[in-house]
Amino acid sequence: MGEYYDLAKAYESDVFNDAVMKERLPKDVYKSLTTSIKKMSPIDPGIADTVANSMMLWAIEKGATHYTHWFQPMTGNTAEKHESFINFVGDRKLVLEFSGKELIKGEPDASSFPTGGVRETYEARGYTAWDPTSPAFVKGHVLYIPTAFCSYSGEALDKKTPLLRSMQAIDKQGKRILTLFGDKADTGIVTNCGAEQEYFLIDESMYEARPDLVYAGRTLFGAPPSKGQDLDDHYFGVIKPRVAAFMQDLDETLWSLGIASKTRHNEVAPAQHEIASIFESANRATDHNQLIMETLKSVAPRHGLVALTNEKPFAGVNGSGKHCNWSIATTKGENLLDPGKTPETNARFLLFLSAVIKAVDLHQDMLRLSVATAANDHRLGKAEAPPAIISIFLGDELSDILDALKKGGKASSKAHISMNIGVDVLPQFPKDTTDRNRTSPFAFTGNKFEFRMVGSSLSIAGPLFILNTIVADVLAEFADRLEKTKDFKKEIAAIVKETITKHDRIIFNGNNYADAWVAEAEKRGLLNLKTTTDALPYFIKKENIALFDKHEVLTPAETESRTEVLLEGYVKILNIEAHTMLEIAHRDIVPAVVAYATDVAKSISTKKKALGAKASFGMEEDLLASLSKYGAQLSKDVKALEKALADVKEDGATLDHAEYYNKKVIRAMEKLRVSVDTLETLVDRNYWPLPSYGEILYSVK
Ligand code: ADP
Ligand code: MG
Repeated sequence: MGEYYDLAKAYESDVFNDAVMKERLPKDVYKSLTTSIKKMSPIDPGIADTVANSMMLWAIEKGATHYTHWFQPMTGNTAEKHESFINFVGDRKLVLEFSGKELIKGEPDASSFPTGGVRETYEARGYTAWDPTSPAFVKGHVLYIPTAFCSYSGEALDKKTPLLRSMQAIDKQGKRILTLFGDKADTGIVTNCGAEQEYFLIDESMYEARPDLVYAGRTLFGAPPSKGQDLDDHYFGVIKPRVAAFMQDLDETLWSLGIASKTRHNEVAPAQHEIASIFESANRATDHNQLIMETLKSVAPRHGLVALTNEKPFAGVNGSGKHCNWSIATTKGENLLDPGKTPETNARFLLFLSAVIKAVDLHQDMLRLSVATAANDHRLGKAEAPPAIISIFLGDELSDILDALKKGGKASSKAHISMNIGVDVLPQFPKDTTDRNRTSPFAFTGNKFEFRMVGSSLSIAGPLFILNTIVADVLAEFADRLEKTKDFKKEIAAIVKETITKHDRIIFNGNNYADAWVAEAEKRGLLNLKTTTDALPYFIKKENIALFDKHEVLTPAETESRTEVLLEGYVKILNIEAHTMLEIAHRDIVPAVVAYATDVAKSISTKKKALGAKASFGMEEDLLASLSKYGAQLSKDVKALEKALADVKEDGATLDHAEYYNKKVIRAMEKLRVSVDTLETLVDRNYWPLPSYGEILYSVK
């Protein structure tokens, strides 16, 4: 037999997974550790040294020389600081060492990460705490320990901490309901997520020739190509050999890290692709999605390529999103968003479904702002992405059933539903067979919800912790009622009916991309928060601060600091983009236009000399006039953008600051872009300093 890639053996080969732990840890240590992991309860400090040592020995066999506490600060990226296993005892006698203390807690001097003022208020330094629910892994020569990052007084300084807390919140509230359904007290709730990651893949030479891609991750100039995604010939098309080789390399790298990469295909825009992995707990899915984005970027150069994860790398063709498929399950593995086959599971399904419907309607603002970034503003509400309005797609069958429950009658379909939930069995819903749900920002797809507004570069921790918390809050309210009632089934029916009656405005099964929906949504009183600056102020509304505080997901100080970090991030991105535009305009575009115009002028005089009175200059003169006209406009636009930036009031409140950028700076950037893109269509290719959209989008042969 020839050599073959052994997928089963390769999968998780670099992960300190359950099998490795079982094999390497003493039985009692293994049992204690895995029980803590399952229950998300603290690790017995007595076993930490043994676990750490075993991890180190395993990692060394994999080629590791260092370990790192891997964390996810509010930059949205991951962070790492490497420590080698080297140590001395006695008279500088070398030992390799990794203690339980080092495993459990780290103290990176990470004082330069954004905190939104939290650490000024409390403690200067932060620490990282081992999160044993996400397994450690070896990448390169380093043992990676997933951690949460907090201040000394316990304030969350990262993306993971609120997510972990939100998982506890939904577990706590969901458990109360499961108990009422007869589950044992140790049956808990996990939230699951499977993220579908879109990205662009371009040739490295193109990337290097575009300062905007290098600095901002997206093109800030570029006239539309003659052929974009008009023919839809890229979507699910044949994967080019070079791309296929990259994808294979990517998958193999991910599999070894324990990421269950499952689906790969070409997306709608030219040069756009997608990767999806199999769903897992929200916590692991978050770590793994960060690793997917990093691996996309680290594997691409091995193939002379660059992967772009920005939400809108190119104007005029589709941007990139990251569909978050989300569901709630019991620790026994039952999906609570699956209608099931028995009256019991049907009633439970309707109750959890109602909780999601109510949560999404009541907290449209929070869901919207969970995906609000400068980059995602270019995508949401545009033709190719869900609108900025939150609504839920349920499909006709389920809507019909809910409608019948609301009216107290029978569903018009075969569904035989009476108000006496728990007596009649719901029909099995076929997975939605229509295509309409593709335009919905939040679609029920049979046994899970698909949140489609998430931007491609965003950490999924944010949207997930918000989803978990808002649903936990409604579950708490339902549990309060159900714990008091004498007639459990009747109370469930009442809750479901009440929810549908009060919150059915959030359900929309039509085309979300149609203009009519915007008007209709307004009539229904749904929020339409078009931009980041419209959405972010909602974070610090009194009731939202109270909501996160109540469920111990974010303290009021943490909510406020997070809002500041988000606003600051928004301004910083736009500031970089604006300065990049000016740099390119001054140092690349203006010189190119001047050089070309000079040569056109020269050609007029050369022609005059050669042909004398017989010469005609229509073409050259027209061209020169256009270059001069748009050149003058460009010059004005450059000055206007410079003025917009010069007028920034640095001492303004952060929200005012962000709003100024949203209104003034973005407008000036857009105007400058129009002038440059017009000039691009006039100037000789050989003079134009930047590769065109056509060249970039079709750069991978
Ligand atoms: P669809 O056809 O609805 O897009 P897929 O089966 O292709 O669904 O899955 C898309 C993503 O959703 C994958 O990452 C998959 O693992 C994930 N997924 C499937 N079932 C669930 C679930 N119950 N909870 C969370 N994610 C899920
Ligand atoms: Mg998709």
